[in-house]
Amino acid sequence: MKKSNTPKPNKSWSIQDSLETYNIEKWGDKYFSLNQKGNIAIFPNGEKENNIDLLQLIKELKSREINPPLIIRFNDILKDRISELNIAFEKAIKNYQYSNKYKGVFPIKCNHQKNLIEKILEFGSQWNFGLEVGSKSELLIGLSLIENKKSLLICNGYKDKNYIEMTILARKLGKQPILVIEQRDEVPRIIECVRKLGATPLIGIRSKLSSKSIGRWGKSIGESSKFGLSIPEIMLTLKDLESANLLSELQLLHFHIGSQISDISIIKDALQEASQIFVELSKLGAPMKYIDVGGGLGIDYEGSTTTSSNSTNYSLQNYANDVVATIKDSCAVNNIEEPIIISESGRSIISHCSILIFNILGTSNINYIINENNKNKHSLIISNLLNTFREIKEIKATKDEYTKIIELWNDAKKFKDDCLSTFRLGFMSLEERAYAEQITWACAKEITNKIEIENIHNKELADIKDTLASTYYGNFSVFRSIPDSWAINQIFPIIPIHRHLEKPIFNGTFADLTCDSDGKLNNFIDKGQSKSLLKLHNLNENEDYFIGIFLSGAYQEALGNLHNLFGNTNIIHIDITKENKYKISNIIKEDNKAEVLKIFDYSSEELIERIRLNSESAINENKLRIEESRQLISQIEHSLRESTYLSE
Ligand SMILES: *Cc1c(COP(=O)(O)O)cnc(C)c1O
Repeated sequence: MKKSNTPKPNKSWSIQDSLETYNIEKWGDKYFSLNQKGNIAIFPNGEKENNIDLLQLIKELKSREINPPLIIRFNDILKDRISELNIAFEKAIKNYQYSNKYKGVFPIKCNHQKNLIEKILEFGSQWNFGLEVGSKSELLIGLSLIENKKSLLICNGYKDKNYIEMTILARKLGKQPILVIEQRDEVPRIIECVRKLGATPLIGIRSKLSSKSIGRWGKSIGESSKFGLSIPEIMLTLKDLESANLLSELQLLHFHIGSQISDISIIKDALQEASQIFVELSKLGAPMKYIDVGGGLGIDYEGSTTTSSNSTNYSLQNYANDVVATIKDSCAVNNIEEPIIISESGRSIISHCSILIFNILGTSNINYIINENNKNKHSLIISNLLNTFREIKEIKATKDEYTKIIELWNDAKKFKDDCLSTFRLGFMSLEERAYAEQITWACAKEITNKIEIENIHNKELADIKDTLASTYYGNFSVFRSIPDSWAINQIFPIIPIHRHLEKPIFNGTFADLTCDSDGKLNNFIDKGQSKSLLKLHNLNENEDYFIGIFLSGAYQEALGNLHNLFGNTNIIHIDITKENKYKISNIIKEDNKAEVLKIFDYSSEELIERIRLNSESAINENKLRIEESRQLISQIEHSLRESTYLSE
């Protein structure tokens, strides 16, 4: 293990500064903060007295040779999120004197990991929490894992005969699958299966809503959305079910307006429309018993409580209140029995419990410290550049001088470009060119310092800071572990998990291990906005620097891909045992290279065999010694069994 220095408190930087810089207490909710050592503290059940030092935990994992990149999951956080959701609905039901209950289901697509789904069913069992599935493979998981006969299994997604028959037969096992019709052409298929098997499923209808939605998933609602039936299609379906004697099984109305809905008013509009459709279906003779409000319950990734796409302008309790109140109103006006309320909240339950940790392999910090009194004779351009630097140093950063500073900066850039031309033509040495670049960076640093000290807000000046950005090379793959940041520009809270007693002196971005220019993280939370640079620390020799990506438990694992053949990372599940103590309850080993290669049909044996044949020829041609051949093969054999990520 590497030796770590004990953190030295820094007079100009305190834990409070870090909490503010990274907005930790806002997005961290009751689960994440900093401890007195300047490390991230985790409060797995949201109680102040029970916390875990994340750095300590990572060090202990490392001593067991479980190395980053890794995902750490806190079962207690998951448990807390599930009870928060259920309790919020219980409260709302009580407050509004709603006469029926809430029965949540977890949409499996948010995270398929077996251990996690088992935990969700275990923690949710007192509320008969169930599952939502959207494909045949997910259906198999749902059918096999749900043991509680009171839990629902909501069956969404496109359905063929096989899908439909499995759900009909599962009902005979005493389970409660509800087949939700998503497409018109599923109706004759369902009727045919019912005839064939002589048994019926419980049926639901997914409705397309016309209420307008905004944001990334705006298109999943409205007439042109991919899923659900339009009102005329619902009417036709009702007729079909009636003539097949199945109307008595139509008990559920479902809608889903997309994920991470930031604005509660959009949810309210959708709820009103759906409640009205529910009422109409009842009036048309369907024994409606359930209303399923889908997903969409968002979380506050940046802690700004706004309608920014990384935030929400409502709390969990606001959400539950609005769902219950709206449904109640529609039923009351029409004198209809209040239905069981189902929600399919995935993101909100599963995001907080997972943290992705990676280590930094190196940085490209820019060296802006120059020797002004460099005695070497230098060219006129360099003297000009040095003079510009001196002028920048002397200038006062007052508002009147903004234009002057920008002018000087443009001069510096011009001189630097001149140096490049001179170099190209062969009139400047490599050493001089390096000196010129360094002076330009020194100019940028000088300006940046002034901006920070005077707290200046000027876009043009602030942009100069980017020139000095450092790249931090991380031991991870964006495509494997945080694909939404690449695919849809989603922002997660990303912060160092230790050293919060030290001032982070650099502004940086992250680059991953893949050979892809998109393999980077350069968009960070910024209290309602986003920013392109994150405050980061200098790297200390022989000391790890760990970065955590928080709130990352939803969607990332299933969407992650094998770009450059970086495989699954280690996943560790942590249980709190007693005060400030924990145990590792489950380790899911990362993929090794042989496993990842196998997915694309490369067999390790064949790979080794081919290289062995190559080395035999090389030995025959006296290009390789037998000893070297043995070393090569043994390195390859060893490597195939090892991580796809970098080791020490
Ligand atoms: C994806 C999905 C969900 C989950 O949505 P969240 O916003 O993550 O809660 C729920 N229901 C359906 C039908 C979905 O497709």
